[in-house]
Amino acid sequence: MPKSNPSQKGETRLTQASLVRRERDRTAYHPADVSPQRRVQRRYTMRLWSVRHARFLEWFYARFADVFLALHPVWNAVGYARAEKPVKFVEKRVKGFMFDCRMCGQCILSSTGMSCPMNCPKQLRNGPCGGVRANGNCEVEPDMPCVWVKAWEGSRRMRNGDAILAVQKPVDQSLRETSAWLRVTALAAAEREKERENA
Ligand code: SF4
Repeated sequence: MPKSNPSQKGETRLTQASLVRRERDRTAYHPADVSPQRRVQRRYTMRLWSVRHARFLEWFYARFADVFLALHPVWNAVGYARAEKPVKFVEKRVKGFMFDCRMCGQCILSSTGMSCPMNCPKQLRNGPCGGVRANGNCEVEPDMPCVWVKAWEGSRRMRNGDAILAVQKPVDQSLRETSAWLRVTALAAAEREKERENA
């Protein structure tokens, strides 16, 4: 009589993914852009590269933010609202390529080791759930490295990596599909003006 393979046993255990599969609607329509299969088939090459180079990207992002802040008079002259469309167009593509950005509009990459937490199927912003697999992959998408495991690895490479310990606010859904670059710039410019007034 053939002995049962322990690894096969592990495959059949009840997981969040198997529960979701069991409960999902069995209809002919499967949205192409959100199916777990599509994400499983993807490779995470660029996302993982960004985490591995978190220190360089931290440095680069700081310089980039300075340039954007220096351009504040330009954004003001053009109008932040008018600048949003072209800036968002670029931001979406660049960050989509580098980090698989979901355009939440409240970027916390510099606090999460350059690993975008919005790629977590549960969209957790304050650390992993209890379901991380022994190999460091996601409970819901078994082929995807847990974004929070990667966030911790990336943060250890960063100068200000301990920012990962700060508690993040819940996502403000009203900011979805808006430019985090412009929002951060406008906030920094307002802070700078306030400091000048108080000086
Ligand atoms: S945290 Fe938000 S803005 Fe930043 S990369 Fe992720 S989805 Fe995009």
